[in-house]
Formats: sequence, structure tokens, C-alpha cells
Amino acid sequence: MKKIIVYTHQDCLLKDNGPNHPEKKERLQVILKSIQDISCIDIEIKKAPLAVVDDICLAHPVTHIHNIFSLIPNFGLVGVEKESYADTFLCSNSKNAILRSCGAGIAAANSLIIDNEKRVFCAVRPPGHHAETVRANGFCFVNNVAVAAKYLQKKHKIKKIGIIDFDVHHGNGTQEIFCQDKTVAYGSIHEHPLFPGTGLQKEVGTGNIFNAPIEAGTDGKDFIRILENRILDNIDKFKPEIILISAGFDAHKRDPLANINLESENYNQITKMIIEIANTHSQGRVISFLEGGYDLLALSKSIKEHFLGLSEN
Ligand SMILES: [Zn+2]
Repeated sequence: MKKIIVYTHQDCLLKDNGPNHPEKKERLQVILKSIQDISCIDIEIKKAPLAVVDDICLAHPVTHIHNIFSLIPNFGLVGVEKESYADTFLCSNSKNAILRSCGAGIAAANSLIIDNEKRVFCAVRPPGHHAETVRANGFCFVNNVAVAAKYLQKKHKIKKIGIIDFDVHHGNGTQEIFCQDKTVAYGSIHEHPLFPGTGLQKEVGTGNIFNAPIEAGTDGKDFIRILENRILDNIDKFKPEIILISAGFDAHKRDPLANINLESENYNQITKMIIEIANTHSQGRVISFLEGGYDLLALSKSIKEHFLGLSEN
């Protein structure tokens, strides 16, 4: 079994979205508790560093970062979107949470290359896959997975990176950042129609984007079949040197924000299938990032299944 490195930080628990918001600190608390209960896997928990602005700027212009930080209030919450459904908030503790979430991915990248680690999980919030180049949305401000991909390419000379997104929402930010970038293949399976509304099958970028929209009510068996045929087969053909996962657990049947019916055990099968591709093409190197997942019981069970998958030889 492979060891798993976990990057996380207490600062990620201090990001507040107000009462009755699904993206709450308890999500990360149950995940960390669940990870600590896993006795059959060698897990090393490390502190996520603060990302430096120069690294974030690999995926976002400095003006985007300054705009976000300039909106941070001294107390209370500030919404960053103009839309009526606006639910992406900044609180007084947001800056360090955003920097730690992004810094976890940078540290994870260094762990793979410098320390020759094979499996890393970033247990962070806020999530990142909705963050576009210059647009915060969907609880996301900085695209953690995109920054890590660009960092691996720029600092560590990795050429081809595969990103697999099994969060129930389309990663509009990740797609937007890489849609003209042949060096990165992005595959997403997501409920449609659902927020953010993007991710149609015809959105193919430069031939490097693979979208599998699925209808409400899809069960685990169909989800896995579609994931394999439309996403994983294409990532396999791309032969990535490293695989990044946008791991959201909101396709679980208990999740309040979506209507897909995965069982917790399905996350084990899905993760094993990804590990198989990583073992074939990527020297087994995988970094998984926490994205969504809003039912606490589903999160606590699904993360264990994900870790069992990640630890596969
Ligand atoms: Zn989601």
C-alpha cells in the first residue's frame, strides 16, 4: 500500500460563509477526523504553507488577486458576485484560507518531485475548480488545481498533466484556464443542468477538454461507465506525466446540492480506476484536491473510500 501525504491547515477552518451556507468548516473537520480514523494506511499530515502571489499568478493575473484581497472585510461577510444567486463570500479570515488552500497544492507538487512521494491529498477550503482566470464564483477564488498544474510545468518541467474532476459540478474555472492549452487534458463528469451551467459535451477546447454531462438520478453504475468511456479513456490516451484530481463528493446520493446517486463505495472504485492510469503513465503520481461535498456523513464515509483507492499500489 502506498503512503498518503495530506496537506491541510487550521486557517482553512476559519473561512466563514455565515449561517446555513453549505460550504462550512464542519466539512473539513469531519474529513480530518475521518482521515485520522484510518488505521490501515500510512498517512502523514503536513501543514499547508501560504502560497506566494508569484505562484498564484501562474494561473491568475495579479489584479485578480489584489481585487479579491481588497474586498476582504474587517468583520461580517462580503459577496464577490453580482448575480442574484451570489453565495461566494469573503470574511475577515479569508486571505490566509485562500493562500493555504493554494499553498497546499504547491507543497503537494514539490512533494511529488522533490521527495518522490506518489499520493498527496489537499484537505483544504475554500475549493478552487470554479475560479476562472479573473472571476471568483461557486465558493472559489483561486483555482488551486490550475495553479498546481502550472507550477508543476513551470518549476518542475512537467510537460503533460491530466486533470480529472468528479465533483458533481462542472469545473468551469479549470476548463476556462486550460481550454486553449494542449499540454493539459481536463475531464469532468457532472450533473447537467446544474450550476454553473457549463460543461456541455461540445465544449472540447483544443481537443483537450472532455465533458460528460449526466442527468439527475444517475446511479453509481452508470456514473462509472460514463466516467470510464468519456473521461478516463481520453485521459489514458493523453498519457499524462502527473494526474491531478478535483475530488468533490457531492455526487453522493445524500448530497443536498445535487441529484446524483453515488454510494460511498463508488469513490473507492473511481479512485482505483484513476490510480491505474497514473500507474501506467504517470509513475503513480497523483495529487487530489478537496472541492465540494456538502453532506457531512457522506463526506466522512466517502473520504475513507477515496483514501483506500489512493493508497492502492
Ligand atoms: Zn461541487
